[in-house]
Parts: sequence; C-alpha cells; structure tokens
Amino acid sequence: MEWNPGGSLAIPDSARLHPGYGGVNLAAGSTRATNSPVLIRSPSYINLPANLPLQHFDVIIIGAGAAGLMCGIEAGKRGRKTLVVDHANKVGKKILMSGGGRCNFTNMFTEPDNFLSANEHFCKSALSRFTQWDYIALVEKHGIPYHEKKLGQLFCDGKAKDIVKMLLKECEDAGTEVRTECSIHKVTAKDDKYLLGTSDAHLSCDSLVIATGGLSIPTMGATGFGYEVARQFGLQVFPTRAALVPFTLNDHQLKQFEGLSGTSADARVSCNGMSFRENILFTHRGLSGPAILQISSFWNPGDAITINLFPELELFEHLKAMQLQRPKAELHTILAETLTKHLSQRLCELWVKEKKLADYSHAALKEIADKFQNWQLKPPATEGYRTAEVTIGGIDTDEVSSKTFETKKAPGLYFIGEVLDVTGHLGGFNFQWAWASGHAAGQFV
Ligand SMILES: Cc1cc2nc3c(=O)[nH]c(=O)nc-3n(C[C@H](O)[C@H](O)[C@H](O)COP(=O)(O)OP(=O)(O)OC[C@H]3O[C@@H](n4cnc5c(N)ncnc54)[C@H](O)[C@@H]3O)c2cc1C
Repeated sequence: MEWNPGGSLAIPDSARLHPGYGGVNLAAGSTRATNSPVLIRSPSYINLPANLPLQHFDVIIIGAGAAGLMCGIEAGKRGRKTLVVDHANKVGKKILMSGGGRCNFTNMFTEPDNFLSANEHFCKSALSRFTQWDYIALVEKHGIPYHEKKLGQLFCDGKAKDIVKMLLKECEDAGTEVRTECSIHKVTAKDDKYLLGTSDAHLSCDSLVIATGGLSIPTMGATGFGYEVARQFGLQVFPTRAALVPFTLNDHQLKQFEGLSGTSADARVSCNGMSFRENILFTHRGLSGPAILQISSFWNPGDAITINLFPELELFEHLKAMQLQRPKAELHTILAETLTKHLSQRLCELWVKEKKLADYSHAALKEIADKFQNWQLKPPATEGYRTAEVTIGGIDTDEVSSKTFETKKAPGLYFIGEVLDVTGHLGGFNFQWAWASGHAAGQFV
C-alpha cells in the first residue's frame, strides 16, 4: 500500500485524562492480550517500558462511547479480533448522563434533514443502512422498556445504564475486548499497520478507528484527540464550536429577568433562517430549554435570536378582540392567559406602559403584539463546551468515505461519530448518528 502516514503523534497533555500517572511499573495482570470478552481496568502510566510485548489486533477502536462500542460490536461479529479502548474509567459516560439519565437513544422521525454538516449528503448512506428501527429492534431484543416522550424521541423507561449494559453484552457476545483507563500517548503508522503507545502496552492493528467524540463536557473525558490524529494524517478539520447549549446573558439582561429563573414558555425561536417551536426556560445564567438549545446550533456570536412568545396566536387580532370583549381588563391579565402570570407581569413592566385594554389605540396594540411575537434578543455568549451536548464542526467529511468511513488519505484509518463534521438536532439524532456511523464502519474495518 502506498501512502504517506505523516509520522507519529505525541498526544498533548490536554488531550489526556489521567486518573493518576507517574509510575513506570506495570501492575501485574493489569492487561491481557487476549480477545477475551471482559471489561479490563488498567492503571495509567505515562512512561512505557520499551520491553512491553506488542499486542496485535485486527481492529482497534479508540473511544468506548456510542459510536466506538457500536463499531466494536459489528467488527467483532465479523470475526475480527477487536479491541475498544477508552481513557475514562467507565465506558459510555455520555450515554449514562444523556436524556436526564434515561438516554434519548434515537428518534422515530430521523431523516438526513435533522443533521448539520458542510456536506449535507454525507450522513445519508449510513443512516439508511442502520436506521432508528434497527436500533429499536436491538433495544427490544434486550428487553429494555422504552417510551416516546414527545416528537418521536425515544427514552428508556428505566436508566441509561441499560443501554450501556446492552452494548457491553453485545461486545461480549461478539468477542470484542473493551479496556478502560487506557490512555494513548502516540499513534504511528508503519507499513500498513498502526502502532499505538498506550498507558500500559504497545498495540498494533490493521484498522484503526477514531471514535473519540467532540469537545463537550471535558469533565466527562472529552478531548480533542480525534482532531489531533486527523491533522497528523493531513486531514482537514473544520473549526469547532459548542452547540445544543444554553445562552448566557449579560448583567443588564439578567437584571431585567431577575426572579424569572425556572419560568418556561412555549415559544417559536428563530435565527439564521431556522425556527424551532418548543419551550424556552429562564435560568439564573440566561436562557435554556429545548427551543434555545436547538437554535444555538444555528447561532453565531453577534447574532440576535427572535422569540415569538405567542406561537399559536395572531396576537394583534386577539388583543383587538379582547379589547371589545373585556375593555376593563389589564393587558398583563390577558397575556397571563398564555404566559405565566409572573412572566407576563415582568415583560409588561419592561416593554409596555400598562393600561386597561380599552385605553390602547390599535397602533399601540400592534406595537405590543409585535414586541411579544418578534422579541429580538442578542445573547452575548453560550455556556460553551462545559454544558454543551454536542460539538459543531470537526473533521471534514470529504476526507472520509460515506460508505466505509475510511479516510481517503490514510488507508486503514477510520473516523466515526461526533468527531466528524455531522451534528444532529436535539432529540435522539446524535445517538442515531453514532450508532449508524459505528455500524457502517464495523462492516469494513
Ligand atoms: C449531557 C449530554 C446529554 C446528551 N443527551 C443526548 C440524548 O439524550 N440523545 C442524543 O442523541 N444525544 C445526546 N447527547 C449527545 C451524544 O451524547 C453524543 O452525540 C454521542 O455520545 C457521540 O457519540 P461518540 O461515540 O461519537 O462520542 P462519545 O459518546 O462522546 O464517546 C467518545 C469516547 O471517547 C473517549 N475519549 C475521548 N478522548 C479520548 C482519548 N484521548 N483517549 C481515549 N479515549 C478517549 C471518551 O472518554 C468517550 O468515552 C448528549 C450529550 C451530552 C453531553
């Protein structure tokens, strides 16, 4: 095979998660070079003794999250000697924390339109080869009870750990080995193999799969490792930013909405040509709720978002009708029939000179309706990767085959899941992408 692998990569400290390194001796029996279907825990060490044995696998997958475990299952089922490694102390940490602990594992209405990418066609092939119905069948095979919460979003009735257990059982049945607390210090390409310097062993493989996800929630083990490896092999990486993330507000804005923390409202929120109709939620830092998280993926610093607090009504017409029917009613009383009393009162204090309905001209009512249905808000920032659900941007999908997920520049090197420039809307789509891309690559590694 002729290709230029680009040498070796020393992973920067920021890309590692070390529960405590510094030693150089390997604890006896801490690793196994077998294809045994057990979860192996091994301590992290940064200096590798040169005389460690080299363990060879057909396939090594870095990242035991949603995409990595799925790929491991499929590769194992094909009889490939497969190892999934993760530097965290547990597999699937984001699965465990997802959906408020119940994991919104897919969406019944998954379509390519639910994904953002510089290449909108890239996701289609994998999504059609492993659909939401295929994943639902897997969940049902394991007897995991689930329900639709809303809008096609499927959640476990019990805990998200049922999903992780299911994936580990599938790995076990497929003969795929999973190792945690295993940090990768170096990736080198030699001949047609990949060599990995890890915290406790030298590893080699024919197919190397990077499934290290995006940058959100670094405290859960997220790193830029995948992007570093991509750059090492000469792949283009698009700039990244936090998405599905709450907005923060400045001190002046926070003062205006003081006391509203915890208040929600059904709204239509729009930005840059996209609109989402769901709840918004006032928080002590700014604005959150599903409609806000969704629109954050389309927002760029400096943009204003538009909030319609009466998405069901032609508010001007409604106010004119109310003026005839209940002329003595206060404006905030009428608005509180849709908004909460507290929110209605606060926004009226901020935006309107309060009078009885009869005392407003039609022009004034029109202005009021416009304010509530076309509220322009410029959030100064988002909460960033600290609380974001996903990362937008990442590895340019043009570098990767949409069929196999193998990179075009480095045969044998694959990227799957969120590390790629494919980001789903809120509602189970990001997991469906992880399952589908992991499943697709698993057929070819
Ligand atoms: C709070 C929260 C809630 C979410 N809820 C949902 C939801 O309900 N539904 C939904 O569809 N999506 C949800 N998401 C998004 C979803 O979790 C991700 O899109 C999905 O997990 C991406 O899968 P992945 O396998 O690509 O990456 P991940 O699941 O993030 O897995 C990456 C793995 O790689 C490991 N890793 C990283 N760097 C290294 C390294 N240097 N060496 C070794 N291992 C490494 C990590 O420890 C991790 O285990 C949520 C995200 C968050 C943060």
